[in-house]
Amino acid sequence: MSVAEDWVAGNYSPLPVVIAHAEGAWVTDVEGRRYLDALAGYSALNFGHLHPRLVAAAAAQLDRLTLTSRAFHSDQLGPFCRDLATLAGKDLVLPMNTGAEGVETAIKLARRWGYEVKGVPDGRARIIAMAGNFHGRTTTIISFSDDPVAREHYGPYTPGFDLVPFGDLAALEAAITDETVAVLLEPVQGEGGVIIPPQGWLRDVRELTRRRNVLMVADEIQSGLGRAGATFACDLEGVVPDVYVLGKALGGGIVPVSAVVADRDVMGVFTPGSHGSTFGGNPLAAAVGRAVVALLATGEYQERARRLGAQLESGLRELLGHGVEAVRCRGLWAGIDIDPALMSGREASYRLLGRGVLVKDTHGSTIRIAPPLVVEEAEIEIILQALQAVLRP
Ligand code: PLP
Repeated sequence: MSVAEDWVAGNYSPLPVVIAHAEGAWVTDVEGRRYLDALAGYSALNFGHLHPRLVAAAAAQLDRLTLTSRAFHSDQLGPFCRDLATLAGKDLVLPMNTGAEGVETAIKLARRWGYEVKGVPDGRARIIAMAGNFHGRTTTIISFSDDPVAREHYGPYTPGFDLVPFGDLAALEAAITDETVAVLLEPVQGEGGVIIPPQGWLRDVRELTRRRNVLMVADEIQSGLGRAGATFACDLEGVVPDVYVLGKALGGGIVPVSAVVADRDVMGVFTPGSHGSTFGGNPLAAAVGRAVVALLATGEYQERARRLGAQLESGLRELLGHGVEAVRCRGLWAGIDIDPALMSGREASYRLLGRGVLVKDTHGSTIRIAPPLVVEEAEIEIILQALQAVLRP
């Protein structure tokens, strides 16, 4: 490892590879070894490394204007918000930077909506989140995480959240009270290990939240923007939530860009000064985000995720019973549970690294496979063959 790593805080345990270059679905380390990137920056690189249209948009903007703060308008922010709102079929966009900021924004939005529109007594709003969730790392967000590693010794925790089992409609219905302002969910739990809820659950949540006057907030930071084989994973069930939270791929793998997208009757509760960010919606971010939306508007990446995802899924299913205990796929996004008797997910990730494929483990025995949506069929085969070699030594 590079000596410089001694200076990096220990809040990650990266695999032993030092990347120096990347293009498309491939990265090259400092010694010139190439690896197929099957993690894609946790889906921040849905369009691959250095996508020419995204790099061109960023480079052009770097020569013109990079930051204004929101004290002034820029010629990029309005068009970005218009294009993203149009893609999502909503009225308004509130731009932020990281995913966690997007989720924080949605929490504030839901609480304000609860007090000012629904009529919940001030200070009493509750938000229902799902067991096994991952929404980011701020003190409020980890307050409703049930992952001890993310939570331990960061208290006191922010109150106002209830947890119910993911995919359990009856538990959700029972948990809703007059003080509930929102249900916050990932349509597919990515960090949880690509956990897919029962068929029809999202539709049922939509119907329930509408009936009980509760906002449905979909955190599509990882599941959205093509990964699941649709623009939004909610689309796969024909569901339109009240609020989308977007991030990761919205920044094209170039800059952090997140956004909350909702209709005016909800977003209208934000007034000048009541929320903001120095960098959110900056011209560079807006130019890149707008180029990302243009790529998604073609539908090409969603189609690739479906087609290549089907290839990946059928190959992974052949490994069932041969070192793999479970396979869960949505679009070009797979979680596989390795037989713990064989090896841990971490060990599998190490061995795949040795065979030139980058993945990352999650929750002990699970590994996630989520290559950039620009991969080709032959590269999916490379991933499958490496897995097969690792699991059937
Ligand atoms: N929400 C979901 C569903 C995520 O997967 C993540 C990151 O993995 C986040 C929120 C947090 O995003 P960020 O790391 O940009 O704060």
